[in-house]
Amino acid sequence: MAARTPRDWKEWFESERFAAEYTYDGMLGAAYTHAGTTLRVWAPTAQAVDVRLYAAGDGGFLQAQLPMAPGGRGVWMLYLPGDRAGQYYTYLVTVDGESRETPDPYARAAGLNGTRSMIVDLAATDPRGWQHDRRPAAPPARRVVWEVGVRDFSADPASGVRLSWRGKYLAFTQENTTLSFDGVHPTCLAYLKRLGVTHVQLMPFFDFGSVDEGKNLGRQYNWGYDPVNFNVPEGSYSTDARRGEVRIREVKQMVAALHSAGIGVVMDVVYNHLYRWENPFNACVPYYYFRQNEDGAPSNGSGCGNETATERPMMRRYVIDSLVYWAKEYHLDGFRFDLMGLLDVDTMNAARAALDALPGGETILMYGEPWRGGASALRAPAADRDHLAALDGRIGGFCDNTRDAIKGGCFDAAAPGYVNGGPEKSWDVGAAVAAWCRSEVLHPQNPGQIISYVSAHDNYTLWDKLALTAAAAAGAKPDYDRMDETLLAQNRLAAGIYLTCKGMPFMQAGEEFARTKRGEGNSYRSPIGLNRLDWARAGRFHSLVDYYRGLIALRAAFPRLGDPSRESADAIEFFCTEQPVVGWQLAAAPGDGALWPAIAVFYNPTDEVRSAALPAGPWRLLCDGSSASLWRGAELRVADTARLQPVSVTIFGRVGQA
Ligand code: CA
Repeated sequence: MAARTPRDWKEWFESERFAAEYTYDGMLGAAYTHAGTTLRVWAPTAQAVDVRLYAAGDGGFLQAQLPMAPGGRGVWMLYLPGDRAGQYYTYLVTVDGESRETPDPYARAAGLNGTRSMIVDLAATDPRGWQHDRRPAAPPARRVVWEVGVRDFSADPASGVRLSWRGKYLAFTQENTTLSFDGVHPTCLAYLKRLGVTHVQLMPFFDFGSVDEGKNLGRQYNWGYDPVNFNVPEGSYSTDARRGEVRIREVKQMVAALHSAGIGVVMDVVYNHLYRWENPFNACVPYYYFRQNEDGAPSNGSGCGNETATERPMMRRYVIDSLVYWAKEYHLDGFRFDLMGLLDVDTMNAARAALDALPGGETILMYGEPWRGGASALRAPAADRDHLAALDGRIGGFCDNTRDAIKGGCFDAAAPGYVNGGPEKSWDVGAAVAAWCRSEVLHPQNPGQIISYVSAHDNYTLWDKLALTAAAAAGAKPDYDRMDETLLAQNRLAAGIYLTCKGMPFMQAGEEFARTKRGEGNSYRSPIGLNRLDWARAGRFHSLVDYYRGLIALRAAFPRLGDPSRESADAIEFFCTEQPVVGWQLAAAPGDGALWPAIAVFYNPTDEVRSAALPAGPWRLLCDGSSASLWRGAELRVADTARLQPVSVTIFGRVGQA
């Protein structure tokens, strides 16, 4: 048979006949029982598929090669009798005379570097007590997400984590760790419990391809936005990447430990592309899973050479199956979609419905980057910032408008935002307060669709950005280590804004202790020394950490701030203030448990003391811009006039019963 061209494939895959004959909704992958395992793979364009069996995940010898039988709708099947847990396998798929050996796209376990799949008895990977593990309750009003990479979390020798667990999943399970074992300054899990965040978002921990799991990790580093096996945990974060079941158990142990600490786990998912063009999808069904340009060539909206075609039924199904699998098997609490703007609206909404259908599934977070990395051949409505109204109201997007208004654009280090020399951004900051629900710039259905933030793994850390902008203005070199009072005040104001904004707050790990990457704006493959959390710095900047802690708790004490309803955004009353000061008040909702009947909030980005009129009070001072915990101490009453310190957020609570 003559080999079909990419354009032939495109026509065939997008034809009604293909969808009618081959769309398949039954089980795929390895269906394991103690008595036997059935393997099923969807390969409708293949002329033959064989299963190859191996004793090990890498190396060793081929044990057997067995032909699969066609089972209708493009599915090939093989039944393997006996208990096959631990059996490694691949498929040999022949399309138009060309045979490719590949792992199973639906693999749930794999050997070293994910090149061979493994049949796994998932029940046997459950840690002790796993059946009692539950998602912690985190009502919207309390939600704050803290983003970290698995390895970055604990790789620092000062982390207090035992050597063999540093940089691994298991580091999250070690309790009561302190800075260099000093017994005083909490690190890692102990630190997180104290900080008060409700969710930890973990950078990719599905099996990615840019780190060789068989080599010493010392000099290797990559964030991992390069998927190989979507349904298998990454091996380099496990204590044994050669035994497929180990990484599965260790991820579950990590999740259980975070859950025990009352913290949910959000997984960063990168369904928008695959690491290489030679991948399990293309080996099984060439071109099917990938979006194609008119000439059939792969579209490259990811900037990584390919993008998945979620509008094609079997790719859409794959994404949904994968999400449901992680949510059920690993008890995950949320998903963060990388380049969500490359996924279509229908896929995202179907995924929301599928997660909602799980027990307690409505609490599972879904949000992502509402943009893409380049031009895309996607014709259906995209899950991007222009389609917030078409997306389910419980799917959110990172808000670069809020981010850039507060601290300046990401790509020009010198560009200031509201807190660091750009007072003209006051209007945007006001829009950010109401999560853009009352603007013409974005059209979210409700504040819950907006992620309010100023820093994430991409681009400069907040501290570096502030240091770079200040240095550019002064014509000086940035100093990332000095505890500069101006930068600290700008940092506190930035946090004071997004942690009082509507929307769901999100922060990069270490933002709260002036994390630096020494001006590196894209550290995706920089050394671990630059990427890892510097726990000694967390000790040095402890007063900034305390400020974040106070703000996070203050936000939780006034639930209407985090209320995702549209009404709560409409209820904000802005004051007439002298520019560039921004001021507003918000009344508590009846019975919402707020500590104060109303709060009044002022942002002063100028380097002078300013005053502003307060509505009829009396009021008490909750935060003066330096301390966010005044509300825990003796009542400091204020009436009529608010005194606003330079470069500060000032928060008042109305005195009286809420
Ligand atoms: Ca890997």
